[in-house]
Amino acid sequence: MTFPPRPDRMDAAAVDEIRANLAAVRARVDAACMAAGRAPDEVRLLPVSKTVAIPALRSAFEAGIANFGENKVQEARLKAEALADLPVAWSVIGHLQTNKAKYVARFASEFQALDSLKVAAALDERLLAEGRGLDVFVQVNTSGEESKYGLAPDQVERFVKELPAFSALRVRGLMTLAVFTQDEAEVRACFRLLRGLRDRLRDTAPAGVALDHLSMGMSGDFEWAIAEGATVVRVGQAIFGRRPTADGTYWPGLFPAATAD
Ligand SMILES: *Cc1c(COP(=O)(O)O)cnc(C)c1O
Repeated sequence: MTFPPRPDRMDAAAVDEIRANLAAVRARVDAACMAAGRAPDEVRLLPVSKTVAIPALRSAFEAGIANFGENKVQEARLKAEALADLPVAWSVIGHLQTNKAKYVARFASEFQALDSLKVAAALDERLLAEGRGLDVFVQVNTSGEESKYGLAPDQVERFVKELPAFSALRVRGLMTLAVFTQDEAEVRACFRLLRGLRDRLRDTAPAGVALDHLSMGMSGDFEWAIAEGATVVRVGQAIFGRRPTADGTYWPGLFPAATAD
């Protein structure tokens, strides 16, 4: 898959690049909705800005993006502080350790990777202290891979029944990452599993727990996810360009001062 170049800067050309990338992705989302017989406004596009430098986030805001998805709390925190002058919302979409719940309670408006009661309790306590609420998605491991976070599908029903105890958490739905392969059938099987779970549990979920939304699909597979019922797609590279290698060797740094070139 080819991705656009990374516009890691704040200038008019970067704004134009991001705006064009965003429009292209939105057009693909809309087309996938139409192909699936769904209304385009059923699917929310969450731009994922992990590893994208702060100047580029300002360009993205200029290009019309006001909600950023980040998978690491520390990085998200730094960015939220650096962009505190802008009206943007932060979605934490990656695994959270209990000791970092206090940060998420402070700056995030959404947390999509809830997978333990310990984290739910820590978030709830901190949110109540801050006088805030938080939209949450329960993360489900639909691929069965050991490397992936999330509850096993057969644990979700019992887990969800405990969530009304946490009054600051607004449960919105389920989230998953599909197996990382180009094999359409394998990827779609993960999405279908999440949807089946949602359909089955929606009616028996306790009061106040709304299992309406399905957050599934990324740059490489969001069209398949939409075909399987996604209501939120989390798209990074197709909007912000190919990510540097996982070990960070090509990471230009969040702040301009840390940028080598
Ligand atoms: C990085 C990430 C995405 C987006 O992946 P892209 O390939 O950049 O579209 C989506 N969801 C989660 C949880 C992620 O960490």
